Amino acid sequence: MTKQRTHIAEAIVLRRSDFQEADRRLTLLTPERGRLNVVAKGVRRPASRMAGHLELFTLARLFVVRRRSLDLVVQAETVQTFPQLRTDLNRLPYAYQAVEAAHILVEEEVEAYGEFVLLVQALGALATTAALPLVLVAYKLQLLASLGYQAQLQECARCGDPLSAGANRVRPDIGGAVCSRCGGVTGLPVTVRAIKCLRWLAREPLQTVDRLQVDTATTAQIELTADAFVRYVAEQDLKSSPFLERMRALKTQS
Ligand SMILES: [Zn+2]
Repeated sequence: MTKQRTHIAEAIVLRRSDFQEADRRLTLLTPERGRLNVVAKGVRRPASRMAGHLELFTLARLFVVRRRSLDLVVQAETVQTFPQLRTDLNRLPYAYQAVEAAHILVEEEVEAYGEFVLLVQALGALATTAALPLVLVAYKLQLLASLGYQAQLQECARCGDPLSAGANRVRPDIGGAVCSRCGGVTGLPVTVRAIKCLRWLAREPLQTVDRLQVDTATTAQIELTADAFVRYVAEQDLKSSPFLERMRALKTQS
């Protein structure tokens, strides 16, 4: 019999799906191994003692057995739950986006200490703050920067000139905001006000971004900008975006 290789992992549950008869397949974000796919056996049985510790968005400490196929979770204990993220329908779609961004941007089997800490901070802020869009934008920019894709927002990303008032645009393919001469007709138009907000959100701790006062039009611009960068780097769309839009539309109607 081979010796089982068990290790303890702190992890956030990014995604869950049913697997075989009573199991669940989980995608985790871990500090040591980045994105990690595992199986938790028997957790769909009512008597499972692990099930409650493996909810979406939960920060848990897990005992994981390495296997040639999917690693196996054999024990789990909750470190922190963010219950508001599941029970408050205003917060839920933002939390979905935060975990989805980690899911599509962080690679498997790479160290992801910074990315892990950022996601814990993002979920904590999304559970408590009223400034949900600002937290999400700040999180996406900081996650990208942590992975080596820092958006150039100080001066024109192509020619280096200061970004003055005028027809500035955001060009993820060039790596940031560009001036009116360099932007051409492609890319998102972006105001200087929006660029200043983005700069601030890119470096502010997530728990305190709600200090920023932002009008609706600027909020829309900075959200589109952050999404454009995520889409460019991940080479895919955020699938939870339509859900977020629907929930917002419902909120506006009510
Ligand atoms: Zn330029």
